[in-house]
Amino acid sequence: MDTAAIDTWGRIEFGRLPGRRFDEASVTDNLLFTLQNQVPGLLTYQSSQVQERDSGADWEWWIGDDQAGWLCLRIQAKRVYEDNTYRMLKHRGAGEDAFQYDTLIKGCNPDQARYAFHVFYNGWPEGTFEEGTYWAPPARWNACPGLSSYKDCKHAEPRHYGCAIISSSDVKKLSDSDITAPAAGRFRVQKYLSAAVPWSYAFGFPPWDPKREGKRWHPKLDRGDWVDRVHGTLEVLTRRGGARGARDASGHLGEIPIDRDQRTFELPSYVEAMRRSTPGRFEPASEDEAPAAPQTVIVERKPKRARKRK
Ligand SMILES: [Zn+2]
Repeated sequence: MDTAAIDTWGRIEFGRLPGRRFDEASVTDNLLFTLQNQVPGLLTYQSSQVQERDSGADWEWWIGDDQAGWLCLRIQAKRVYEDNTYRMLKHRGAGEDAFQYDTLIKGCNPDQARYAFHVFYNGWPEGTFEEGTYWAPPARWNACPGLSSYKDCKHAEPRHYGCAIISSSDVKKLSDSDITAPAAGRFRVQKYLSAAVPWSYAFGFPPWDPKREGKRWHPKLDRGDWVDRVHGTLEVLTRRGGARGARDASGHLGEIPIDRDQRTFELPSYVEAMRRSTPGRFEPASEDEAPAAPQTVIVERKPKRARKRK
């Protein structure tokens, strides 16, 4: 996922040149294609026949299996613009919702293990914000469990924020707090980056181990059950301290108290229909099978309990 993030960074950086443009949809397509080829058990489905265009989601993820239950993430993607803002956050919501992020949040419920997130697609030339780095000070660097700065961090590099994830409730808080400010201030990247982390972190933070500087994951560290760990991470990112909370809890995200019963045990019919079909384009057989978002990703743990690598 970090490699895909660096790719995205390059694409968005290149997209800043005059006459070049990559919209969110083409970046998302590329990302999902890359992931499907790299992550075992990950399947992607595209559909133009979306039931609620106004779910506010570009992708929906289902993570888990029939025994452990399923977690759901709805994600809205926003790219950075040349003025260093996520100016399309101003997008209006469906119906009476003021903003698209309101619609997205409304369609989710953390009490049912359904979480709303934004993924920001970032990319700008080195030195844009500070000489000699891709990072954007004064944004806070929350990528390091060891509290290193972006200059010394061995876990992550700034371009891992090519795909940066942040809970949509944090996006709402940050956007609504400056609601009367002009877009250049209201949606500036530094404000949001301070509450975001590289998107691979949503699947478990890298625990900090000073003895293994080169390696991001300690091979022997028991990170607990995979679905529990992802569930715990999403809980922290959404409701228990956000990016900083997850950084501070990085060593024990598999032990965050979670309620497994909150997960989904009966998948929506379109997800079941997808599981029975080949990944790729999905044609719903009936209205019930219309997905909630243009892209659906299913990450299913295989019954053999093969060790997952991310
Ligand atoms: Zn570090």
